[in-house]
Amino acid sequence: MDILQKIILEKEKEIMAKSVEHAYIFDEQGNIFSRKVGISEQISFTTSELNSFKDKIFIHNHTEDATSLSDKDIILSIIYQFKEIRAVGKVKDKMVRYSATPKMNKIKLNDALKGAFYNVRKLLNKYIIDADNKIYHAFNNDLKKNKINKEWAEFNHLHYINKRLNQTLKTIGIELNYKREII
Ligand SMILES: [Zn+2]
Repeated sequence: MDILQKIILEKEKEIMAKSVEHAYIFDEQGNIFSRKVGISEQISFTTSELNSFKDKIFIHNHTEDATSLSDKDIILSIIYQFKEIRAVGKVKDKMVRYSATPKMNKIKLNDALKGAFYNVRKLLNKYIIDADNKIYHAFNNDLKKNKINKEWAEFNHLHYINKRLNQTLKTIGIELNYKREII
């Protein structure tokens, strides 16, 4: 593991079980570029702050339920071109880490936007809503058949949406490179 990964892992372990959301933004050398602590379970950034996070590594913790990257996390990381976004949480004695390193193929994305009045955010929302519907129905069916339970569904819902986005966003030239790790 290189020094940058070590520095970030140390910070992730520090924040993973906090009851309030903490965000740290690192540059590629492992220096802390910015940090913020949320009042409850949410942190807000100004547009100029978000613009300054281009090519940076954004880490934060998801409190209590330790679920995957939210739609807001995904959209901000793509639009503001973060190098990486990570969310960590504590599950039993382990740390769960969700991450994405979005890369845009501008030509393909422009093609997807051509002739439509969509902006990128609206286009992304369309794909997120589609994934949400598909996973919601799949999970509902499995719940009825007792293949999965409610607790499992709640924990995995966003994870499966993001796994689907990995595939569907490729069609408009966005490589999300989403993954979940248990550490
Ligand atoms: Zn988040």
